[in-house]
Amino acid sequence: MKNDDLDFDKKHIWHPYTSMTHPLPTYPVVSAHGYELILRDGRRLIDGMSSWWAAIHGYNHPIINQVMHAQINRMSHVMFGGIVHPPAVELCRRLVNTMPTGLECVFLADSGSVAVEIAIKMALQYWQARGNPRYEILALRKGYHGDTYGAMAVSDPENSMHNMYQNYLPSNRFLNSPTRRFEENWQKGDETSFSQFFSQHHKKIAAVIMEPIVQGVGGMRFYHPEYLRLTRMLCNQYEILFIADEIATGFGRTGKWLACNYADVTPDILCLGKALTGGMMTLSATLTFRHIAETISNSKAGCFMHGPTFMANPLACAAANASLSLLENDSWYQHVEKISTYLSVGLAPLISHPKVRDIRVLGAIGVVEIVQEVNISQIQHWFVENGVWIRPFKNLIYLTPPYIISKEALMKLINAIAMSLDQPENFISS
Ligand code: PMP
Repeated sequence: MKNDDLDFDKKHIWHPYTSMTHPLPTYPVVSAHGYELILRDGRRLIDGMSSWWAAIHGYNHPIINQVMHAQINRMSHVMFGGIVHPPAVELCRRLVNTMPTGLECVFLADSGSVAVEIAIKMALQYWQARGNPRYEILALRKGYHGDTYGAMAVSDPENSMHNMYQNYLPSNRFLNSPTRRFEENWQKGDETSFSQFFSQHHKKIAAVIMEPIVQGVGGMRFYHPEYLRLTRMLCNQYEILFIADEIATGFGRTGKWLACNYADVTPDILCLGKALTGGMMTLSATLTFRHIAETISNSKAGCFMHGPTFMANPLACAAANASLSLLENDSWYQHVEKISTYLSVGLAPLISHPKVRDIRVLGAIGVVEIVQEVNISQIQHWFVENGVWIRPFKNLIYLTPPYIISKEALMKLINAIAMSLDQPENFISS
């Protein structure tokens, strides 16, 4: 990459949540191996992000690469309308076998946000098919489910970055975000507001959607599993569908295969994405029960109304198969448990720092909540200068490293965070 390319980037290319007039700096990454990103000047950065929860095996994994090369040589894409191919069948079989029992009808699509759109559409079509249309989805404040319209409409209505589209979005109902933390004791009475809400509004509600246990973009909050059990129970009682958005949490990130496993609940509709392909390609899956799929299919419409051009892209399915096979053979649980221990031990002392409000760790997720917002361009620059790739947001510096990270590399990430706290210019003064 030449300087020219960087100028072109600045002038012509949008980056996520970035201004075109005052763009945040971008760093030229020319390759990535294992847990390292390699900059064009040869510097190597330890990756603390897994490219937003996705690259769980690290980059350029030789086995996934090999499977993908083999698939390219056969075909990288073919339409899914009227055609089926081996990578899709293998992937759906793997998902049906490894996801909670009964979730056996799989819809493959392009991205996490689209998986959420599909889940919402399934719920709406299900109620229509039952001759009892329901038009509202119940969601959690501080929730986040993606950037497309349906997904935005079930993300936090006030504080999310989507409030600017509010007048154009369908109106949904929102429950207050769970207050009882993951590690706290559940108290009698915690369930009152949830139960009351369901009993008052259930007749209009087609489905409830939640990020199980971890509210990510809405604040990296870890809430008590009892909320999930309660939600499952109330959904059963009032006949409401339960959609679990495990796009960020799925495939072991929280220390369980799914975050729902902390509460032993099975949703009616499950959304997967991000780490599904080991972060190699964009792909998502929405799974549901046969009786839901059959109700939708036996309606007047006769089918589920969705069918993206790149549905079940064979190359992405091949990557997902390779990733799932690695997870199967390579005790992901032990890696995540070790990362969890190192994060807990390494981050705990930071709680005494005046800049730190809270430290929390769950599985391979470590969060340092700061009392001030970070100056993103400054702190990112500081991290790069110190050999690590960490991208905080608002007042949250967090780590979601690849499962293959070494102890030494993880300690470097933790030390970098510790040192960053003593640089006043990394934070916006309040
Ligand atoms: N749901 C959750 C919980 C997410 O974290 C995200 C992505 N950050 C999405 C949905 C949307 O996924 P994608 O960015 O692949 O559209």
